Amino acid sequence: MNLELSDEQQAVRRLAKDFVDREIAPNVIAWDRAEEVDRSIVKKLGEVGFLGLTVDEEYGGSGGDHLAYCLVTEELGRGDSSVRGIVSVSLGLVAKTIAAWGSEDQKRQWLPGLTSGEYVGCFGLTEPGTGSDAGNLSTRAVRDGDDYVINGTKMFITNGTWADVVLLFARSTDAPGHKGVSAFLVPTDTPGLTRRTIHGKLGLRGQATAELALEDVRVPASAMLGEEGKGFSVAMSALAKGRMSVAAGCVGIAQAALDAAVKYAGEREQFGKSIAQHQLVQELISDIAVDVDAARLLTWRVADLIDRGQPFAVESSKAKLFASEAAVRAANNALQVFGGYGYIDEYPAGKLLRDARVMTLYEGTSQIQKLLIGRALTGVSAF
Ligand code: FAD
Repeated sequence: MNLELSDEQQAVRRLAKDFVDREIAPNVIAWDRAEEVDRSIVKKLGEVGFLGLTVDEEYGGSGGDHLAYCLVTEELGRGDSSVRGIVSVSLGLVAKTIAAWGSEDQKRQWLPGLTSGEYVGCFGLTEPGTGSDAGNLSTRAVRDGDDYVINGTKMFITNGTWADVVLLFARSTDAPGHKGVSAFLVPTDTPGLTRRTIHGKLGLRGQATAELALEDVRVPASAMLGEEGKGFSVAMSALAKGRMSVAAGCVGIAQAALDAAVKYAGEREQFGKSIAQHQLVQELISDIAVDVDAARLLTWRVADLIDRGQPFAVESSKAKLFASEAAVRAANNALQVFGGYGYIDEYPAGKLLRDARVMTLYEGTSQIQKLLIGRALTGVSAF
């Protein structure tokens, strides 16, 4: 097995590291306190090609393989999870899904804008009443001549107030459960669509998370992505790859926790020597380091499977489950290394912990990942 990165992959990793150190790191505390990252970052991400990774150049993409996508996502996660999430959703859940399922017209309409950063995309699956049980969603799309008229509410939508297009899931037939769900590409300036920012988040404070309300939102039938009744398959295929992206972001958080803990342990002195010389502090640091390596290897395996055209969904669930729990542990251990200083936001550990926590919740909670893995192993669905 060759775990070496190619020259191209190393170059994209260096590019991402430089981008994070130059454009993101100096602003992290201010953006977190202001509860909004500077919107100009989206254009910059587009210019450097990070919003077009794995998408064909024909549609404005920057190409590259999924391991390169993971490396960039790791670096963005190391810098600021709020920025990482903008990319994971606009590229990972929306643009890549349009590239996989879209008609030629849909690809030409949306991909150049999404990959350049001119447009932002959001993914509208969760509703106030359905989170883990997403296939039971109740937003309705009713056929009216050549159009569909959509009514419903979407909850916790990342990029929601910034987005130009929402990949929206709605029930368009009377078929039971997820079989009646279809996917639609809805421009967010369509009359009847209103958005409300959700404030007071524990972490990812820089991100525009929103509730979307749809009242008689009319879209042409050509806005449907994929076939009627296949919307849940569209959503699940997006999330299977999305979980790899979340896992890569978690690797970035854990790496940032490790870097910060090692540096601080070398500088801080107690009992007449650096705290790095105390064995129990070394235990905290080594626990973080093992979590970083294990999470990274599980994540890279998913990228390798995708790039070789192999099945990857269960491995993606394993990577997301482990990496998200590992990121929480790593950030918490780093906070412990910082002592009281870890508890204030001038030091990085507290924000890393707050940002890590949501990773065990979205794109399928840890419990849901375990049920997906358990179903694959036993052949029995315990949902
Ligand atoms: P629930 O489904 O109500 O779960 C509550 C608890 O019950 C959890 O512990 C869960 O694990 C457990 N549980 C549920 N069912 C089972 C079961 N069968 N067995 C065992 N335990 C179970 N959604 C989007 O569509 N698009 C987005 O962009 C998006 N961004 C988000 C951003 C943030 C910051 C947050 C917080 C959420 C976001 N979400 C988004 C929603 C997210 O995916 C859901 O919150 C998540 O799927 C969980 O759903 P829920 O919150 O309704 O929890």
